[in-house]
Amino acid sequence: VEPNTIQIDEQRLSASFQALSEIGSTPGGGVHRPALSDADLRARAWFKEETERAGLVYTMDGAGNQSAILGSARADAPHVLLGSHLDTVPNGGRFDGALGLSAALEVLRVIKEAGCCLPVSLEAINLTDEEGTHVGELGSQALTGKLSLEDLDNPAAGVDALDLGLCRIGITRESVLSSQCSPRVIAGYLELHIEQGPLLEESGWDIGIVTGIVGIRRFQLTFRGRADHAGTAPLGRRRDAGRAASGFVVSAWEAVFRDYLDCAFNVGDMRFRPGAYNVVPEAVTVRVEYRASDDERLDILEETLIRIAGRQGEAVGVEVQVGSIERFSPVSMSGEVQQILAVEAKALGLRYTSLPSKAVHDAQSFADICPTGMIFIPSVGGRSHAPSEFSAWQDCLNGANLLLHATVRLASGNSTA
Ligand SMILES: [Zn+2]
Repeated sequence: VEPNTIQIDEQRLSASFQALSEIGSTPGGGVHRPALSDADLRARAWFKEETERAGLVYTMDGAGNQSAILGSARADAPHVLLGSHLDTVPNGGRFDGALGLSAALEVLRVIKEAGCCLPVSLEAINLTDEEGTHVGELGSQALTGKLSLEDLDNPAAGVDALDLGLCRIGITRESVLSSQCSPRVIAGYLELHIEQGPLLEESGWDIGIVTGIVGIRRFQLTFRGRADHAGTAPLGRRRDAGRAASGFVVSAWEAVFRDYLDCAFNVGDMRFRPGAYNVVPEAVTVRVEYRASDDERLDILEETLIRIAGRQGEAVGVEVQVGSIERFSPVSMSGEVQQILAVEAKALGLRYTSLPSKAVHDAQSFADICPTGMIFIPSVGGRSHAPSEFSAWQDCLNGANLLLHATVRLASGNSTA
């Protein structure tokens, strides 16, 4: 089949999307559906029902990943996965995850109806706990063999909450860890997602073809000075940890705005000790996170931040300690998939650009095991992880049609028309 002869059924896609919007809906127009909560379980039941209604095969693996499968005539055919997630952050939006999954299901329905004989099986997959209510990207990491026992032993809300959640869908930490070698070869992974930033909307693009997912680094700085009487200690003789830490934050932001506008930067937490009106701060901890598309850029920014911290500490006679640095490497999306997306976007008459994702996604788990790609559509005002998250319906539809056409092209093994 040629991609240009088939298209998404708009009414059916809309019905799926609306149904999901109502599961765990909040008064402000958002969705509250943390992984393995009551609402998430209702969304998972919906996915199973829709799969069966569409005449697709339903499966769930040991990590709770739910799949709707359109099997190839070839019994041992590899699988092309169309992913996203049905869980949300607390009080999140309607589009994050749900759009990608509604579209993935619709792609399978359309291809099934068209009677296409593809050399691969297609699989729409709901990946467990992408947002990290318990363990971020639990499902995709387990599936691709990246999850460790340590990850499972230190979940965000504690081990008891994780075990209770897993139990609700009939799985255990043991089954999560052993879910990697499920009996299929994965030949590709595609995901449609909202951009969650303002770039596409502001520049008038219909589609963003994701080039890669940024790497993230995090560390905690501790500024150690000396506690003193806040009234009587002469200003010039204080070793004020608060002054050094504040100086660091201001100087770091100045450096970022001057030299690192391609990176993301955040100071998310500062704690003063002992934390009183009348005591000069003895110690301050500062939590820093930054993101960039390549390791070299991350290294340079890291060096800059640590140098600034040292200088600010020295100026006030305060010692600076750099805590252990958490590193998450950047990943690249497949060049072949980016090429397919560009060709098919052009054929659909869509204006597209290439951009990195500054948010994390399940796609990063798949990037080293199969050709992997992501499609972004514009987010109005760049708002996301909030009830005000919104994308125009035409953009959702465009993204779904591009997902459909790229899936057919990738599944057929043709990179160009
Ligand atoms: Zn998401």
